[in-house]
Amino acid sequence: MNSQTEQIRTEARRLLESGEVSVVIGYGPGSTPARATPVFVRRAEDVDRLFWSPACAQNLALYVREQAGRGKVAVVAKGCDARSIATLIQEKQIRREDVHIIGVSCSGVVDPGRLAPAGLDEGTLKSLAAENGGLKADCGDGEVPLEREAVLKRACLFCDTPVPPLSDTLIGEAPPLQPAADQTLPEDLDARREFWAEQFSKCVRCYACRQVCPACYCKECFTDRLPVGWVSKRIAGPENWMYHTTRAFHLAGRCVGCGECERVCPAGIPIQTLMRRMASEVDALFGYRAGMDPDAEPVLATYRDDDDGPAE
Ligand code: SF4
Ligand code: SF4
Ligand code: SF4
Repeated sequence: MNSQTEQIRTEARRLLESGEVSVVIGYGPGSTPARATPVFVRRAEDVDRLFWSPACAQNLALYVREQAGRGKVAVVAKGCDARSIATLIQEKQIRREDVHIIGVSCSGVVDPGRLAPAGLDEGTLKSLAAENGGLKADCGDGEVPLEREAVLKRACLFCDTPVPPLSDTLIGEAPPLQPAADQTLPEDLDARREFWAEQFSKCVRCYACRQVCPACYCKECFTDRLPVGWVSKRIAGPENWMYHTTRAFHLAGRCVGCGECERVCPAGIPIQTLMRRMASEVDALFGYRAGMDPDAEPVLATYRDDDDGPAE
């Protein structure tokens, strides 16, 4: 058992035994060592269901939001998950006093969809572990190092907040990571439009990207409002374009870059590239990054006299 697992279980036991929280939301082992599954632990004697590994990819803020109003919960949160929780607090979807954040310093999580292209047979995988900022896997022939760039969730390669900016308990040290340079897009507008038109044409509108995102919580998504007709159910270029651009604008200043939308996309669309571009525009315009301060005003829900644009 790694030390993060041990510390998560110890903290979960303390929280449940003391009655401070009614449930601890964390990760348990999934169907292979490269996959984790969200688990809800309600009794101190069940804390051994919790674990920590480089497979813990899901952003559990999603479930914190769903538990809102049901008493205080604890959640295991990586840097990006904690930023999502901060965003939900800012947007008054959850109350700070209703969540105990068990923050875990994170050196990146694996995207199982990237294993096969990297030459790793997930079916034979016996173990996967993080070590000194690197990764190692055992497929039956002993442990071998893995190329982080080849197997990590793509968002992790660009991550600059692996340590949760918000936590009540912090496990682990800041990992020695250098965020990679962002993917470049064509500067020429027509070329960029063509790039995205091609990407969006692959979308099958399964909405997995929406369902997995903690910040996509509208009670009725514009895509489901058929009578208004913002976007039809038809899978076609203009409809897909409408879905993706509207979603990107809804998430501007709110997306924390967890990369879950991209990880679950069955069509391999680089959604993160779009979301990161929006985030960098918001940062450049307003000096604001999503989810860094739960007490900050949400950037696009506030107005300042010195903001650019029409004031009257
Ligand atoms: S984006 Fe950062 S905090 Fe989130 S899983 Fe990747 S490395 Fe960890
Ligand atoms: S997950 Fe991928 S295919 Fe599904 S709606 Fe989102 S972008 Fe389209
Ligand atoms: S849009 Fe994607 S990257 Fe951003 S918070 Fe939602 S799931 Fe995470």
